[in-house]
Amino acid sequence: MADDDSGAYEVLARKYRPQDFDALIGQEAMVRVLRNAFSSGRIHHAYVLTGVRGVGKTTTARIVAKGLNCIGADGTGGPTVEPCGTCENCTAIAEGRHVDVIELDAASHTGIDDVREIIEGAKYRPAIGRYKVYIIDETHMLSKNAFNGLLKTLEEPPAHVKFLFATTEIRKMPVTVLSRCQRFDLRRVEPDRLIAHLAGVAEAEGVEIEGEALSLIARAAEGSVRDSLSLLDQAIADGGKDAASIRTMLGLADRSRVIELFAMVMRGEAAAALVELRDQYRSGADPEVTLNDLAETAHWLSTLKVAPDIADDPSLPAETRERGRELAGQLPMRVLARSWQMLLKALEETRSAPSPLMAAEMSIIRLCAVSDLPTPGDLIRKLESDPPASAAPPPGGPSGGGGGATGALRVATRSAAPQVAVDPHIETPPAPAAETAALPQDFEAVVALIREKRDGILLHDVETGLRLISYMPGRIEFRPAAGAPEHLAGTLSERLRHWTGSRWTISIGDDAGLPTIAETRAEASHSLDQRVRKHPLVAAALAAFPDGELLSIPLNPVGVAPDMPDVPPDDDDDDEMDLLGEN
Ligand SMILES: [Zn+2]
Repeated sequence: MADDDSGAYEVLARKYRPQDFDALIGQEAMVRVLRNAFSSGRIHHAYVLTGVRGVGKTTTARIVAKGLNCIGADGTGGPTVEPCGTCENCTAIAEGRHVDVIELDAASHTGIDDVREIIEGAKYRPAIGRYKVYIIDETHMLSKNAFNGLLKTLEEPPAHVKFLFATTEIRKMPVTVLSRCQRFDLRRVEPDRLIAHLAGVAEAEGVEIEGEALSLIARAAEGSVRDSLSLLDQAIADGGKDAASIRTMLGLADRSRVIELFAMVMRGEAAAALVELRDQYRSGADPEVTLNDLAETAHWLSTLKVAPDIADDPSLPAETRERGRELAGQLPMRVLARSWQMLLKALEETRSAPSPLMAAEMSIIRLCAVSDLPTPGDLIRKLESDPPASAAPPPGGPSGGGGGATGALRVATRSAAPQVAVDPHIETPPAPAAETAALPQDFEAVVALIREKRDGILLHDVETGLRLISYMPGRIEFRPAAGAPEHLAGTLSERLRHWTGSRWTISIGDDAGLPTIAETRAEASHSLDQRVRKHPLVAAALAAFPDGELLSIPLNPVGVAPDMPDVPPDDDDDDEMDLLGEN
């Protein structure tokens, strides 16, 4: 079937263009319908063939044109789905010189004038063939006027006319035209079919090429036979017949290396990941393609988790598939989903970055930074099962979760030094004497009382000027802070007596006392800021958004520290993801 006697190199896609339906791969459903149509003599007057480029639309149209006009080797045959390929009509059509088979490329002939010839010619009987066949490539490119002109012929087609419309974008075809056609959807060719086809072509060409190289080409062609053959052409011309040179040709990183890179990122090994990324770059991998491959890996592992059967990719080597299953088992779905989102964002950035490699490296660093961090869902669960102490985190523990501190912070009233009541069962508050039962039981209650009585000036003076040394109901000892009014003890004593109806002894002591309320608050706010910055989630957010600022830390009603998130875990999307695939 190959006619290379001219001596010029003929591209593989042309040389191996199928001349009959037996040679057309991957379109069995369409071929079956066409066989039935021919054998029952019910050949539609117009077909529209749609599918991605290079899957065989025009090839199918030409085979149909031959089948319609074939007269068989002995010159007596009728329309057939198996054109002989040797009769006058078949050979003329195969060589593109049949007067009754007219091909129009609508991509370059979009106007009404271009189709007028068709409309006029359709009125006349075929010159030598049985049918006039019009093959229009990229039909969707025709102008509105051109379609309208064509429509008249389609509405009342002469019996000797057949239309074959090929299009990659069926949605751009007018419904008025589509409704008058029988439609065939040509499928992308499955990778294993494509690999087998490429192997056959390579063998026929006497070219030895690695199986993995062929599977790389098949993957890159994304189901297009023509693209796969063009890539094979290129590989032969480049002299690269092994997987490594095909990868270089395609700008691909080794798939297994991409998967290992993904694993490194998931383990948060930023340095190792950068070394690997640069190494892949040096061996020819385009950084954007690498990010794309990483996103593809996130997608592949996610599908492996939820639907192992459809995710199993036969074009991959067995060990790569095994590694994929292993990783899919280790990584929670929500981590995979997060990395997918981050990689999509990274791809966008790469396109506008001054250097794709730089952009890819930044993305890798960012991904590593968040890799080992809990997702919001994790965090809620962790906080639920292991709540942090509500203030003053133990040294070294930014999450403050350890220590089993379940009692609330409370300033002991008998001692100058503050104490954290670790366990309320051990240090219970002293039982108040009967006559003081109605009095504020601790200094905080005194402050609350001042606030309740709306004495703003006293409240300010107490909050900024009083360093508490000791407290008992009816008795307060303190040391004035710098700037405290001289009459503070007197004023406080007078007001408390007035409000509580009891005598209060307010004295000034020599001990240093506790920090003032104002100082404590400032410190808490500062350490809260520090704690929040150290918090894994916030650190991750700040790492991911280096320009981000910590604007406010909403305090929970206790007003001490953000303990528990308000959102119940059931309302969290992450938990739904868990249902899909938590290990
Ligand atoms: Zn024939």
